[in-house]
Amino acid sequence: MGSLDSPRERENGNGNGGCRSPGDPKLGDGVMIVVESEVMKKRRASMLPLEVGTRVMCRWRDSKYHPVKVIERRKMPSAGPNDYEYYVHYTEFNRRLDEWVKLEQLDLDSVETVVDEKVEDKVTSLKMTRHQKRKIDETHVEGHEELDAASLREHEEFTKVKNIATIELGRYEIETWYFSPFPPEYNDCVKLYFCEFCLNFMKRKEQLQRHMRKCDLKHPPGDEIYRCGTLSMFEVDGKKNKVYGQNLCYLAKLFLDHKTLYYDVDLFLFYVLCECDDRGCHMVGYFSKEKHSEESYNLACILTLPPYQRKGYGKFLIAFSYELSKKEGKVGTPERPLSDLGLLSYRGYWTRVLLDILKKHKGNISIKELSDMTAIKAEDILATLQSLELIQYRKGQHVICADPKVLDRHLKAAGRGGLEVDVSKLIWTPYKEQG
Ligand SMILES: [Zn+2]
Repeated sequence: MGSLDSPRERENGNGNGGCRSPGDPKLGDGVMIVVESEVMKKRRASMLPLEVGTRVMCRWRDSKYHPVKVIERRKMPSAGPNDYEYYVHYTEFNRRLDEWVKLEQLDLDSVETVVDEKVEDKVTSLKMTRHQKRKIDETHVEGHEELDAASLREHEEFTKVKNIATIELGRYEIETWYFSPFPPEYNDCVKLYFCEFCLNFMKRKEQLQRHMRKCDLKHPPGDEIYRCGTLSMFEVDGKKNKVYGQNLCYLAKLFLDHKTLYYDVDLFLFYVLCECDDRGCHMVGYFSKEKHSEESYNLACILTLPPYQRKGYGKFLIAFSYELSKKEGKVGTPERPLSDLGLLSYRGYWTRVLLDILKKHKGNISIKELSDMTAIKAEDILATLQSLELIQYRKGQHVICADPKVLDRHLKAAGRGGLEVDVSKLIWTPYKEQG
C-alpha cells in the first residue's frame, strides 16, 4: 500500500485509489478528473461517519500515513451530521500513542472493506498452531502479562479512550499517554491546567493564572527529607494532604497504564522528587508507598514525568525506595503488576546492585546475605540471578557463579545507574501511626 502517497496525488489518478478500471474508456485527462472526483465524493459520503472498527490510513505527526483502527468516534460540537472526530489506534505503535484525529487526517481511499472481526479471529485461530497463537497473544498484550484475559478486556474497555490529551504543568505542556478518571465535569476537556505546586487542575488558562497569584505553595506539601544540590525529595502523607494526594493520582494516571486509582490516599505516603530553583521546587516524578504492607511492598506506583525522562530520575526513585527500606530494617519489593518500562528499570537496578556486590565480594555469599545488604527481597534476587544464568545446580545445591568477566558483561548491559542517592543527605524516620 502506498502509505507515503498523499491523498491528493491519488485523486489525480496517479495511484490506484480512483474507480478507474483498466478497461475504462479513455477520456481526456480533464474529463477523467471530474468523473473520478464525483464518484469519489459519493463513495466517501456513503462511508461517513466511519464505523468503530474501521481500518484506514491516518496522517500522523511525522506527516506520513500509518495504518490505524478506529476505536471510538464522537460528534464535533456545533457540527454537521457527518462531522465526527475519531479516536484511533496506530496498529504499528504502542497504545500510548492512541489519539483523537480529525477526518482530514484520514485517507478515505484507503478504508478497508469491513470485516467481521469475530469471524476473522475464529478463522485465523483455526489455522494457527498453538505456538503461533500464543505468540500473537503475547504480542497483543505486550506489557500486560500479569492481567488475566477478563480483567484485561475490562481494563481496555474502560481505558480505551484518552480523555485529556495535553496538560500544562509548570513551564511544560505535556502530551498525555493514557486515560485518567477525572471527575465528570472535566469530561469535555481536551487540555487541563495544573498548578505545579498544589497540583490543583483547572479548565482554563485564566483560571490557572488567577490561582497562581494566590497559591502560596512553592513546593509539595509535607516534609523535605532529602536535599542534594538542586534535588529535593518531599514526603507527603496522604492522610494529612488528601487533596494533593488525589490530584497527584489523577495526574499520574495520565502516564501510567495499569495504575489502579486509589481514592483512599490516606493509606499512602508519596515521595515527590523535585528540581529546585529560585522559583520553587518543580516536581519531576514520584513514587507512592503503602504505610503498612503485608506483602513487604516498598513502592506502589512510580512515575517520572515525560519532560524529565531519560535523565536517570526513575533509577534514582527506585534506589531511594530501597534506601528507605534499609532505614526501616526491612526488605522490600515493588507492587505488581509492573509496567513494561517499570520491570526493565527494576531489572537494571537489581542487576547493578547485586553484581557490584558479587564483583567485590570474596568467598561465599548467600541470597539471604545479599538480601540483608541490599533490602532487595530474596525472590527478586533469585529471579534476577536466574535470568542472568548466574545460578547453577552443583553437587545437590544452588550456587551463584560469579565469573568476573561474565559479571562485567552483564553490568555493561544493565546500563549506568543514573543519579546516585547520597544516603548521608537523607534525613528521615520511618512512618509511625500517630495517636
Ligand atoms: Zn496551587
